[in-house]
Amino acid sequence: MTQKTGTITLIGAGLTGPLLALELVKRGFQVEIYERRADMRRVQMSAGRSINLALSVRGIHALTQAGLWNDMQKIVIPMKGRMMHSATSEITFQPYGRNESEVINSISRADLNIALMNAVEERGVKIHFQKRCSGIDLKSGVLELQEEKTGETHSVAADVVIGCDGSASAIRGEMLKRSRFNFSQQYLDYGYKELTIPAAPGGKHALEKNALHIWPRGNYMLIALPNVDGTFACILFLPFEGKDSFEQLPTRAAVLEFFQLQFPDARALMPDLVDNFFANPVGSMVTIRCSPWYFEGKALLLGDAAHAIVPFFGQGINCGFEDCTVLMELLGQHGADWNKVFSEFERARKENTDAIADLAIENFVEMRDRVGDPRFLFRKKMEFALQEKYPQRFVPKYSMVTFLRVPYTTALKRGQVQDRMLTELCEHIDRIDDLDWKKAERLVDSELSPLELQ
Ligand SMILES: Cc1cc2nc3c(=O)[nH]c(=O)nc-3n(C[C@H](O)[C@H](O)[C@H](O)COP(=O)(O)OP(=O)(O)OC[C@H]3O[C@@H](n4cnc5c(N)ncnc54)[C@H](O)[C@@H]3O)c2cc1C
Repeated sequence: MTQKTGTITLIGAGLTGPLLALELVKRGFQVEIYERRADMRRVQMSAGRSINLALSVRGIHALTQAGLWNDMQKIVIPMKGRMMHSATSEITFQPYGRNESEVINSISRADLNIALMNAVEERGVKIHFQKRCSGIDLKSGVLELQEEKTGETHSVAADVVIGCDGSASAIRGEMLKRSRFNFSQQYLDYGYKELTIPAAPGGKHALEKNALHIWPRGNYMLIALPNVDGTFACILFLPFEGKDSFEQLPTRAAVLEFFQLQFPDARALMPDLVDNFFANPVGSMVTIRCSPWYFEGKALLLGDAAHAIVPFFGQGINCGFEDCTVLMELLGQHGADWNKVFSEFERARKENTDAIADLAIENFVEMRDRVGDPRFLFRKKMEFALQEKYPQRFVPKYSMVTFLRVPYTTALKRGQVQDRMLTELCEHIDRIDDLDWKKAERLVDSELSPLELQ
């Protein structure tokens, strides 16, 4: 056994692990990371390679604090809004924000991971690849690590362990064995599959570059996010079983027919559709809630390990990076009193991560079903009109989550009030000009206090 003193050991070099390591090293801690996978900079990976993430203010804030955002701008593409594609290939655009500064940023998950790993290694942090954490003695902090290549195991004693090991966290697995550990996991009946739209001749984008493209089809959808190399990373979300499901697409002919019928304009841009479809696995999506997130001052869960959410609000990593921001603030306040820092961290974050979990499930219905509905688009316009008139009070829910760092609980609660208000105000009209502004003012004044904008 190797004895380590004063070292913080992170499990997982996915997205939160390296960012957290950077922040800890900045504050003078020794950090080591153990990662199950091989190093993706040296070995070709398949699954997860072509997923793009939408980075917004919470993630950007954390990356800026870490000194990484400036350089990262070269590998992101701003998306100004949703571009909806109907089954007859008509296109509608719905902006995300009020102006061009309110955008979300498409980034390849692999590029983001590589940039983070490079940055952390430059700071002298060692990432031990292909070492799977297969257990931890929470009391002593002794970790059991398994060599992925040989299956051999060895132990490492750690002072403090932070589980950044994602939704199937091994650290959480050990906590689960303890009494009074609360845990729930809720899988969607939907799966997802990665697909690609290649670049057009000359490396150009085959669709509008600065948008997130959606083919909403009621019960399911296809989305596409732009990459800097001209390609689009697409994700098909379908039920696992039943009507229009993955189960019903067992053959090449069935896949082609389904795409030709449902997504004809996307199909025309996907020459390798069928090969892609059968090469990539169907992923599942889960919401995980658990508590407590820590064991004494010895071990903590962070990111998806503590609170995995479904991807429909584009907040999983934004929320995980915000975890890092909050943890560093608490470390600043309490010093390395880990028990205090960990308990305060859970106190600050838990209700917020529960709120974004609910918002993410709610947004699935919005994306796959409602974005194609003219009434929904009218409500969106109305939201901007109300925000224009009452910028301190009426801020659309999407904007609170995506463009502001207000607590997710605030976004959830105010969003519910605003939704009711919109239903009442939009009920009998279909033009902004017909809005009863007196009634709007009365509702806004009585139900929405000024929002602390940050
Ligand atoms: C289809 C899809 C689309 C998404 N889109 C968005 C989006 O647009 N915006 C957004 O903000 N979020 C999005 N997310 C969510 C985002 O990917 C996650 O929230 C984020 O990756 C979580 O980061 P993490 O570091 O907690 O976990 P991960 O990134 O999953 O990293 C965990 C790491 O731990 C390693 N590991 C696991 N177990 C062990 C072990 N036992 N020992 C050692 N290492 C281990 C894994 O190999 C991995 O490298 C999306 C997710 C999916 C699936």
